[in-house]
Amino acid sequence: MHRTSRRPSTPPTSRSRRRLIAGCVAVAAVLGLTACGTASGALQPPSTAAQPSGATQPSGTAATTIAPAPGSDGIPPATGSAPATTPATPSAPAAPVKPRTPSPTGTPSPENAPSAPASPTAPAASSSPAPPPAHPGAGPVIGSTASGGRTVALTFDDGPGPATGQILDLLAQYHAKATFCQIGQNAAANPALVKRVLAAGHRLCDHSVHHPQPFAKLPHDKAVYEITAARDMIVQAGGPGTEVHWFRAPGGGFNADNEQITAGLGMASLGWSVDPRDWSRPGVPAIVSTVQKQLKPGGVILLHDGGGDRGQTVAALKQLLPWLVAQGYAFDFPAA
Ligand SMILES: [Zn+2]
Repeated sequence: MHRTSRRPSTPPTSRSRRRLIAGCVAVAAVLGLTACGTASGALQPPSTAAQPSGATQPSGTAATTIAPAPGSDGIPPATGSAPATTPATPSAPAAPVKPRTPSPTGTPSPENAPSAPASPTAPAASSSPAPPPAHPGAGPVIGSTASGGRTVALTFDDGPGPATGQILDLLAQYHAKATFCQIGQNAAANPALVKRVLAAGHRLCDHSVHHPQPFAKLPHDKAVYEITAARDMIVQAGGPGTEVHWFRAPGGGFNADNEQITAGLGMASLGWSVDPRDWSRPGVPAIVSTVQKQLKPGGVILLHDGGGDRGQTVAALKQLLPWLVAQGYAFDFPAA
């Protein structure tokens, strides 16, 4: 199905905007894995260059190795046919590259606050104010399901990685479909997992090659590279016919420029409406209760299958899946 129906890129105007933001942060510094989270160690400038790119190393067989070498988050293109190696002169992205201000609603997640270098261990605002920004209306960033109604879209970022298999097993138990926002170099390193995701009927989302943050501040050419090359790497890992319907900016760092690049590639910009900050390992009960509190019908839940130890995410999912089913939720994909 998703393999056969290629989605036309719908005009951004037709999509409901949700300025969810928040963001992934790299917990990476520690493990050399890119992860979603706050500003902490993640914000390494994309400069460490030269590293032969984890992307090309078919390192681990399965889910083992994700990683760009420690500290390599945000490395510039090193993979073969990188379109953009040069630090762009503002080569006229159709729209000015204005880093948008973080979420209008304040704090769906602290990842919104680039200024607040939260330590990856500080679950600070996990209980913070309710999220959902004013929703429908303006922009192309999607934060709702395709079908609406009592549906939910589960999304998993930063994989594929060691936890992906477990998550796939759990999803299968509950006949749940999900969307995996994969980091290009992880997909390239774990093609078998990408294929497994597809074979199980899940869908794929581009989450950049290296997970650089703050993503919204990348020069145009680098943003083009991160988005385009990751999409290509995921397609190559998935095999012929693989489709990638969405792009999710690392850290939720969307701006007019990267949204336009995304749309130009026929993908939709994917945000979320529920963020339990599982990447920060706030504890299983916190993850579960945040989802239970924040979720509304048609919601998109942000979780992670990569970026470090995902034991809490897996444990939370074991509770959340039956809860969702009991609540009458049907599993859906995000709108596109
Ligand atoms: Zn991420």
